[in-house]
Amino acid sequence: MEKIIDIRSDTVTKPTTAMRQAMANAEVGDDVFGEDPTVNILQEKVASLLGKEKALFVPSGCMSNQLAIKAHTNAGDEILVERDAHIFNYETAAPSVMSSVQVQTVPGKKGIFSVEQLPSLIRPDIYYMPKTKLIAVENTHNRAGGTIFPLEEINKLSRFAKERNIIFHLDGARLWNASVATGIPMKTWAEQFDSVSVCFSKGLGAPVGSAICGSAEFISKVRKWRKVFGGGMRQAGIIAAGALYAVENHVERLKEDHQKAKYFAEELSSVTQFSIDLESVQTNIILIDVQKTGKTPNEIISLLKANSILVSSGTFTSLRAVMHLDVSMEEIRYAVQKIKALFH
Ligand SMILES: *Cc1c(COP(=O)(O)O)cnc(C)c1O
Repeated sequence: MEKIIDIRSDTVTKPTTAMRQAMANAEVGDDVFGEDPTVNILQEKVASLLGKEKALFVPSGCMSNQLAIKAHTNAGDEILVERDAHIFNYETAAPSVMSSVQVQTVPGKKGIFSVEQLPSLIRPDIYYMPKTKLIAVENTHNRAGGTIFPLEEINKLSRFAKERNIIFHLDGARLWNASVATGIPMKTWAEQFDSVSVCFSKGLGAPVGSAICGSAEFISKVRKWRKVFGGGMRQAGIIAAGALYAVENHVERLKEDHQKAKYFAEELSSVTQFSIDLESVQTNIILIDVQKTGKTPNEIISLLKANSILVSSGTFTSLRAVMHLDVSMEEIRYAVQKIKALFH
């Protein structure tokens, strides 16, 4: 059988042999008692990478974002996120379920919004209006196709938030990609935020896990809520070892994923039935608008699947392809040839 090229997401990666070895050999303890040495090493490592006092290992990126919202807000508060944000679109309305907060969206361009858009969205201090409690940024931006939020804009947003006592949260599921693509250290990207969430199970290739980072006071609140949310894990060192291995060995190699994405996007932009905004291909994600094919994204997904290439749908009119460590440059070259032959 022909090998399937699965570029639906960077979450499809499986642990490498070396990673599995690290997991099998991990020293473990009961993490609900704070006694898992591998979890503790991972947490210290990530906190220091991000320049925060503390980090807490959690089962997923959704839980990480939602714990931050829970710990930072009270019922009836409002949070501001970009319209295409993961928090707003892909977390099953969790802010309203878990924290009883209202979400107001900011329309962005390629996932990026500017400080000039905010004044009219901030609620005045009147008792019958919700209180604007938190602003979140997503970097890189998933739904916008892996775009990088400019650091100057982050600095402006942070100043704006601080002046108004509004919490500033970063959904940095793929902050690793932003850091490798720009050469700007994780710490610098994280500096202006009160809390930062990072994922180990995307491009880094670990099987499970995210971390939420911030001040010691914030993390002690988050730890309590993690237990409430059902995320207190026991010998979690087994999975933390995969995450630790990923942080130590799979960050620099994200460059290769960015190269594959660039190649894939440039090659397929020559297909006249596709539209690809090459400027948006800044990291490992590619969005291909397929309106000109006269087919829906789902029809094209099926067609490619019949040819052993798996992609996912991006927006209503686009396909999404994501590069990762389980797909080689050769396979991407092969996929490009095949797709070109189907849409010549
Ligand atoms: C993947 C992702 C998350 C978290 O997803 P999980 O599947 O819960 O780990 C959060 N934010 C962004 C931007 C993501 O891409």
